[in-house]
Amino acid sequence: MPENLNIKSYETPVKPSWCPGCGNHAIWVALRQALVKMKIKPWEVAFTFGIGCNSNGANFIKGYILHALHGRPLPCAEAIRWTNHKLKAVIAIGGDGDSFGIGLSHFIHACRRNVDVLYLTHDNQIYGLTTGQTSPTSVKGFKSKSTPFGNIEEPINPLALALSNGASFVARGFAGETEHLTSLIINGIKHRGFALIDVFQPCITFNHLNTFAWFRERVYKLEETNYQPTNKKLAWQKSLELGHKIPLGLFYQERKATYFDELPQLKKEALVEKSLKNINLNKALEEYQ
Ligand code: SF4
Repeated sequence: MPENLNIKSYETPVKPSWCPGCGNHAIWVALRQALVKMKIKPWEVAFTFGIGCNSNGANFIKGYILHALHGRPLPCAEAIRWTNHKLKAVIAIGGDGDSFGIGLSHFIHACRRNVDVLYLTHDNQIYGLTTGQTSPTSVKGFKSKSTPFGNIEEPINPLALALSNGASFVARGFAGETEHLTSLIINGIKHRGFALIDVFQPCITFNHLNTFAWFRERVYKLEETNYQPTNKKLAWQKSLELGHKIPLGLFYQERKATYFDELPQLKKEALVEKSLKNINLNKALEEYQ
């Protein structure tokens, strides 16, 4: 561990295996830059990963790591947060298939619970790890190996879904805007409650529609307009803006009680701080014999 914290402090000996030019690399840089700027050491942060190209990052980053089943980074992150309130950050990382397909119900319930977790979704509108199938966020008409005549389903809108289910921090980033994404991640970690940052992450190998150039032609930053992220109805309208112009930035933020502020069993102390003195473990174990 170098004396001065820098982005290399979070590197493991395993080098990223992502395709050269993949949007995952830039998100990776932004995440580590954010942690360095916040002076969060690798042993003060827990990461949970699902399954997908992005989640191979479990091998490349230092911290407390849990590489979960497909669609399950969020419930694992929630459990970690319930167990230990003192970690400076609990960050769940998944792709669009992980988050809005296989793990969709976990996502909705995490929004409702307002658990203090940052969810960073690498949204490339395709299943990259399995070599290019239509995903839950692929647009209607999208052609891929699994929909050669065009996708006939409407795409999931992650931001609208988060807003309608009570998420208290809802944002969108872009892998082509690393500094902007770094600042969103810092604010997402600082936020007390459930924070979604859905990140446009071009898959340069299999998604030939949603490329870096395609996004650059469309994206603009909300903070460069007079937008204020405090009005949920306005945030909802902005979340539906997915045509020639697509907003990036913080759509909505609200301060409210988190899950463990409300739950008597966790209000005073995290699970890890509870005394085992009055718990008869033998009695509990007998039930499983
Ligand atoms: Fe990135 Fe796509 Fe390559 Fe996966 S297949 S590493 S998402 S460019």
